[in-house]
Amino acid sequence: MADNTLTAVRKGSEMREVPSLDNAWLLLENGVVKGFGGMESAPGHTDEVVDAKGRFVLPAFVDSHTHLVFATGREDEFAMRIAGKTYEEIAAASGGILNSARKLREMPEEALFDAALARLEKLRNQGTGAIEIKSGYGLTTASELKMLRVIRKLKEQSAMPIKSTFLGAHALPDQYKNDKDGYISLIIDEMLPKIATEGLADYIDVFCEQGYFTNADTDRILEAGWKFGLKPKIHVNQFTNSGGVQTGIRHKALTVDHLEVMGQAEIDALKASETLPVALPGCSFFINIPYTPARSIIDAGLPLVLASDFNPGSSPSGNMAFVMALACTQMKMTPEEALTAATINGAAAMELEHSTGSISIGKKPGIILTKPMRSLAEIPYYFGDDLVERVFY
Ligand SMILES: [Zn+2]
Repeated sequence: MADNTLTAVRKGSEMREVPSLDNAWLLLENGVVKGFGGMESAPGHTDEVVDAKGRFVLPAFVDSHTHLVFATGREDEFAMRIAGKTYEEIAAASGGILNSARKLREMPEEALFDAALARLEKLRNQGTGAIEIKSGYGLTTASELKMLRVIRKLKEQSAMPIKSTFLGAHALPDQYKNDKDGYISLIIDEMLPKIATEGLADYIDVFCEQGYFTNADTDRILEAGWKFGLKPKIHVNQFTNSGGVQTGIRHKALTVDHLEVMGQAEIDALKASETLPVALPGCSFFINIPYTPARSIIDAGLPLVLASDFNPGSSPSGNMAFVMALACTQMKMTPEEALTAATINGAAAMELEHSTGSISIGKKPGIILTKPMRSLAEIPYYFGDDLVERVFY
């Protein structure tokens, strides 16, 4: 993906075009792309030379939807699901998001940070070069702020570009079980002003879904978010098609994420908007629900973004190469479309398309040097394999 004009989201058939050079050199200075070209024009002297013969040099993956900050995994629920319980049944039996919230509230901020930093390092080694991280396992003012401060500290201590999203409306906490309006008021009147004052979030999110937050609830929260300058990136149409996509578009959402349940009306609405559709196939794979209809979306001329949804309940992997494999095998995307969706389109989904997501002069995308490969298709083809030889930042 070496192209100096690659600074915008790729739509429809453009997603299949991956600008590339064979037998080429690439010059980096402190991670910034300074030049590239065919070997006949290679620069004479540099401090370090890395031989990439027989390998691919790619921009790092951009993962625009994760819940990377959490206390511990939920392997116990995994066993329940294997025994036949559904995601909804586990949530009803005090598992699910509320289980993560209980664990997170008990964990000190430092321990939470250490665990998140270790996960971030692992993802870096798997080729992720920029990431979005959500709150939403706090569900009290103090714990949501704690999560967002952990994300801020990750921003400060990691070389990776990170965007932070406030997801207070992830689930209804126990103490508001019979008072959803009360909890929404807490989000709007107490959490949001504090988060805005401390500058702790770049975006706002809502789990807009049957049994969680309705379209009307989402309207209230997103309207309040905009008052503090927070653009929406929201969870919609995961289990039901109840108008979430249109709600996001109405509030000028940067992205609408999940989209496992989509109709023609949703595709038409996206076509008439600037909102980007985001697919999270790791979640479909792990909890065994339908996949986002990528072909219908791309063939309609729309852009599509791929992200991991890394979280302890429904997608405990942030491996973007595996996400690409699922996109190809389950969603019928081509390897080129999957790479576009996982790099430049992911960058657009967190407003970083001018600084990352492609190998372009002046960008600092993070560079993946792959192990020996004959074709780009080997990334999704050898699913579960580790394709990364080295990552440069
Ligand atoms: Zn999510």
